[in-house]
Amino acid sequence: MQRNLNDIGIVLNLKQAKDANKLLFMFSPERGKLTLNVKGAGKSLSKLAPSLDGGNIIQISYYKGKSDIDLLLEVKLIDDLSNLKSSIRGIPLLLYLLELISLFIQPEMPLSSFFNETVDVIQLLDSNIDLIPPALAYYQLLVLNSFGYTPPLDECALCSRKLLANEKRRAITSEGVGYMCEQHMDELDNTFLIKDNILKVQKYLLKITAQDIQGIALGNDEWKLLLSIQNTWLQNILEKKIISFNMLNLDGSR
Ligand SMILES: [Zn+2]
Repeated sequence: MQRNLNDIGIVLNLKQAKDANKLLFMFSPERGKLTLNVKGAGKSLSKLAPSLDGGNIIQISYYKGKSDIDLLLEVKLIDDLSNLKSSIRGIPLLLYLLELISLFIQPEMPLSSFFNETVDVIQLLDSNIDLIPPALAYYQLLVLNSFGYTPPLDECALCSRKLLANEKRRAITSEGVGYMCEQHMDELDNTFLIKDNILKVQKYLLKITAQDIQGIALGNDEWKLLLSIQNTWLQNILEKKIISFNMLNLDGSR
């Protein structure tokens, strides 16, 4: 079936293809990872290119033909996230979010509620960049949750014993997600120990929407620890390193 279609999406990447064309990778709410051919001939590419910056939220029309890659016809910019892109903290943040999305979504995978929540988080960060630590922790959990890997926060991931207040517990680092109770721990290793207050914040973040993120009290080092643990869990699921995590600027300077 050949036809013209409309969609909205988040630009993940614009790649040079062979010949003068480019390939646009986009997160579409109904089609997941959508790849579109952007014709380089004539004026169309130079006209479209500024709207196709990574992270941009766009409205498009495209032609669905017989080949596997559809053809981009028109782009209308909805939001170019100008605050994030003009900030030293915003650019690596955007790269991390786009890498995460690209690693988890697949072609023809409808994800409309995850898409809407992603747009909410990105636009919230664009309006208030100081929300990076909680918004990022929220988003990591949203990804885990949306793709079926919600970490168990009430029981030990290894033996299912209930996690109790004031006990030692450590985040799982080698495979899977969640926490291990004291009986599996090597006493000499004190990394990734998580206190009750961080666990409580994690449980809270799993219950709220992006609009409720403000006003969660954790220290900067505690946020960094939480972000690092959740990134490790995401990597465990992907069995792959998320390269842009180490480029994040989490120390609060603009
Ligand atoms: Zn256990």
